[in-house]
Amino acid sequence: MQAHVFIGLGSNLDDPRGQLRRAIDAIAAIRGVHLRATSSFYASAPVGYDDQPDFVNAVVEVVTELPPAALLERLQQIEQTQGRQRSFRNAPRTLDLDLLLYGDHRQADPDLTLPHPRCHQRAFVLLPLKEIAPDCVIPGKGAVAALVVGCRDQAVARMVD
Ligand code: AMP
Repeated sequence: MQAHVFIGLGSNLDDPRGQLRRAIDAIAAIRGVHLRATSSFYASAPVGYDDQPDFVNAVVEVVTELPPAALLERLQQIEQTQGRQRSFRNAPRTLDLDLLLYGDHRQADPDLTLPHPRCHQRAFVLLPLKEIAPDCVIPGKGAVAALVVGCRDQAVARMVD
């Protein structure tokens, strides 16, 4: 069965917009994955560790028959290909890909928690998600349109091309 899936992208190193464009092309090229929608790019202040450049973030919607774990593995391969180094938590990164929502599926495995455990608290996820899926509901958390209101204090701005 096909699932509607939302993937979050972030980068703050080595031409972040270029990193996101390449990652979106790579996601669209995964066998069994069909790209349905791509949000605008958003600039966001770093969370957790301030002494680093702002991030560029986006969200894409795909339809796929790949199971969640297989899809995450493909996304991690793309992160590796684009030179991600995991130095420390919240560190600068060339590319971060998060599996945000996999249909209504919920699981709490540390290797893959769905919905993504922090997606409902982050304006850099919620704003692009609302742009491409205004009626989206995060299972167990609520409507994206309402969650966005609770993140108004976070510095996130839609980027103009
Ligand atoms: P980070 O790159 O800092 O976002 O964390 C990556 C780690 O989080 C990896 O070990 C993943 O297995 C794990 N993880 C758990 N849930 C998710 C998810 N929904 N999306 C992406 N990574 C996840």
